[in-house]
Amino acid sequence: MAKPVVAIVGRPNVGKSTIFNRIVGKRVSIVEDTPGVTRDRLYSSAEWLDHEFNIIDTGGIELDDDDQLLKQVRQQAELAIDEAHVIIFIVDAKAGLTPADEEIARILYKSQKPVVVAVNKVDHPKQRDAVYDFYALGFGEPVPVSGVHGTGLGDLLDKVAESFPEQEEEDYDDDVIRIAVIGRPNVGKSSLVNALLGEERVIVSDVAGTTRDAIDTMLERDGQTFVLIDTAGMRKRGKVYEKTEKYSVLRALRAIERCDVVLMVLNAEEGIREQDKRIAGYAHEAGRGMIFVVNKWDAIEKDERTHTLFTRQIRDHFQFVDYAPILFVSAKTKQRIHTILPKVKAVAEQHALRIPTHVFNDLLMDAITLNPPPTDKGRRLKIKYGTQVSVKPPTFVLFVNDPELMHFSYERYLINKIREAFPYEGTPIRLLLRKK
Ligand code: GDP
Ligand code: GDP
Repeated sequence: MAKPVVAIVGRPNVGKSTIFNRIVGKRVSIVEDTPGVTRDRLYSSAEWLDHEFNIIDTGGIELDDDDQLLKQVRQQAELAIDEAHVIIFIVDAKAGLTPADEEIARILYKSQKPVVVAVNKVDHPKQRDAVYDFYALGFGEPVPVSGVHGTGLGDLLDKVAESFPEQEEEDYDDDVIRIAVIGRPNVGKSSLVNALLGEERVIVSDVAGTTRDAIDTMLERDGQTFVLIDTAGMRKRGKVYEKTEKYSVLRALRAIERCDVVLMVLNAEEGIREQDKRIAGYAHEAGRGMIFVVNKWDAIEKDERTHTLFTRQIRDHFQFVDYAPILFVSAKTKQRIHTILPKVKAVAEQHALRIPTHVFNDLLMDAITLNPPPTDKGRRLKIKYGTQVSVKPPTFVLFVNDPELMHFSYERYLINKIREAFPYEGTPIRLLLRKK
């Protein structure tokens, strides 16, 4: 099920990122601790009471270089309108109502999306009167908050949650494989999608998705149904923000959330960029299956070593997704495009693979005998038994004497041992520890 999306808008310095961080809280992130992967704080999942939602800080999406204030806030407001179900419009109690606030209000007003005004920097109850100025914005009763102190956020989120749309059921059967094609602008995502749709003998139909601009495309091959998630997101609609890399990350995140397998598209001509790692990091963290698709393979000079060198570069840069297979293709010449869907199917099967508990325990005990667990200050980690608790991604629980005694390197070792027996190609594996 797709979660509702909340966007935060407001001119610079009103406290958007402070409030974003407050709402998101300190979530433990696998990727943040992974060397070489940095993370933008612009999009995150969050919870309030029994509501789960995603939240965007539009202030984190820098638009064109020209730093004209009004242009920036206008574009960020448009982005919020396009992407979000509910908008939090933040203003600054200390600064009062400004022309930039009024400009944002005008744009939001036209959109008909639910808007909740948060008057930030009300650090003391005595300052609550500041909210009255902001009734003039025309979005009803403003909510006083303090991002720094964390006050008022409960009231704010209550109001936001009231406007969440009815939850829509996911429209696809369990046996349908959902694919997200992700990557930076210009790597060739839309060309690849078109090549896939043109090359394969497919039954194509567009499926209206959960937001007004999300369109999925369904196709079938050899009796297997696939859905390309959010093909509309790859169509160029000509908005300024669509050419920005951060927006492409945002779009990728939403597609990652709804898919089983990610096609992580790289551009052979440009090589690997920091932003590629970010996008792949999110897919890894979300536990999706992943395939690297190196596109524009036609466009580069090659000799017999090119393939090996490019593979090595990918493995160096994306050490945290060492499990993902790599395909070298050209959307332009259609070279190896026909290998994509069979690979997706193979990865989806691994992503959903279960190992019987007795087989898993045999494997685990063999691994432990070969290389016993570490000790810490004289205490040794004891692994009693384990079991696979879920799939997509495959997740195993190990029952141990003390989870604190586990080392990263030993966890790595165990995962490698699992992969020796069951390759789980293209899928991350999770190990959880429970005290027993
Ligand atoms: P953004 O540009 O809208 O993302 O704003 P920031 O979150 O970066 O905050 C801008 C400045 O306002 C920072 O110096 C914050 O510490 C400050 N600020 C944010 N929230 C509050 C608040 O509730 N009270 C006060 N007094 N300052 C705040
Ligand atoms: P997107 O922004 O990731 O959707 O990228 P597009 O599909 O719009 O492609 C960006 C540019 O790369 C366009 O000019 C395409 O014609 C070009 N392109 C896409 N795939 C290939 C390819 O396989 N080979 C070559 N040489 N160019 C390609």
